[in-house]
Amino acid sequence: MTPETISAFKKQFPNIVENEPMNKHTNLRIGGPARLFIVADEPSVLLDAAAMARKLGTPWYVFGGGSNILVSDQGYDGLMIQIAFRNIKLRQQTATIEAGAITSAVARQTAEAGLSGLEWAVGVPGTIGGAIYGNSGCYGSEIKDSLVTVDCLDKEGKPVVYPLAQCKMGYRDSLFKHVPHVILRATFKLTPGDQEALKKRIEDIIRMRKEKQPLEFGSAGCMFKNFVFKDEAELERLKQDVKEIPADMLAKKSISAGWLIQQAGLMGEKIGDAQISDKHGNFIVNLGKATAQDILMLTSKAKMKVRDDYNIMLEDEVQLVGF
Ligand SMILES: Cc1cc2nc3c(=O)[nH]c(=O)nc-3n(C[C@H](O)[C@H](O)[C@H](O)COP(=O)(O)OP(=O)(O)OC[C@H]3O[C@@H](n4cnc5c(N)ncnc54)[C@H](O)[C@@H]3O)c2cc1C
Repeated sequence: MTPETISAFKKQFPNIVENEPMNKHTNLRIGGPARLFIVADEPSVLLDAAAMARKLGTPWYVFGGGSNILVSDQGYDGLMIQIAFRNIKLRQQTATIEAGAITSAVARQTAEAGLSGLEWAVGVPGTIGGAIYGNSGCYGSEIKDSLVTVDCLDKEGKPVVYPLAQCKMGYRDSLFKHVPHVILRATFKLTPGDQEALKKRIEDIIRMRKEKQPLEFGSAGCMFKNFVFKDEAELERLKQDVKEIPADMLAKKSISAGWLIQQAGLMGEKIGDAQISDKHGNFIVNLGKATAQDILMLTSKAKMKVRDDYNIMLEDEVQLVGF
């Protein structure tokens, strides 16, 4: 970025910051500086900053909670925009939620209102925008299950509203992963539920997560997607390479990446300060001073071992930024 571009941004946005360390904004606690960084606490800030970046030809990137991104050690040579407009409106059974709303707060607020459909998401860190982007899910539920419409800006900055059917939601996948958009807000259809039962489910989920996930360390959650097999022929092929696939995975037609990593004997494996958690095979944790390079080398090692042992190519779930 040229000094002229930087001063043009600083002139228009007094709260823009230069060389902001991204390790302060990612759950992995990794990432070099963003050349320019702005918190968009109103949609208008995002609209103006993105319009200016477009006009000046400056690379820009939006993120929410930073819980599913790995930012390069060199940082990002452009404008990082953190989406932080967080309004949640509940009207009868419809929730209108801004992209920067914290997902766990949405889960709690909807449960508190006696509305069911998003309580499962209480343990998913980050924002609703990030959750829609990756169709986040757990415990058999996904964002798409209650999603109705998504309001976005398209590549040219034009507002567009997509009904669910056009969002191409799939397993940790959506239209937004393939065609650049900024998600502004979304509506969800919830169902009436028993407030006390919903609140109990939330507490149960939090307890389960603490037991099963290494939440004491920085991580990006699951590093790899589970392996979904296409058909019986593929399953037969897999059975040659992977012995004793658990019955629940066969029933779901999906082999857990964490289980494969565990079978491959990689639990606890370390490169630098990056470690494959010994509590959950699909979590790579930052023990303190891990670099993005350490994480990438460790993910490559896991991918190669699983490929060599089981003939399965693991796919990244985490998004790479600045590489
Ligand atoms: C401890 C832990 C547990 C986790 N458990 C789960 C789980 O159970 N299930 C699950 O699915 N995930 C899980 N994750 C991953 C992560 O929390 C989710 O993917 C989450 O929804 C990401 O939201 P975010 O706001 O942090 O996204 P970010 O990390 O900020 O961004 C992720 C991607 O979304 C894009 N994005 C974010 N906001 C917008 C927007 N407004 N418009 C357009 N693009 C946007 C970014 O550009 C980026 O490519 C876990 C992560 C951690 C650290």
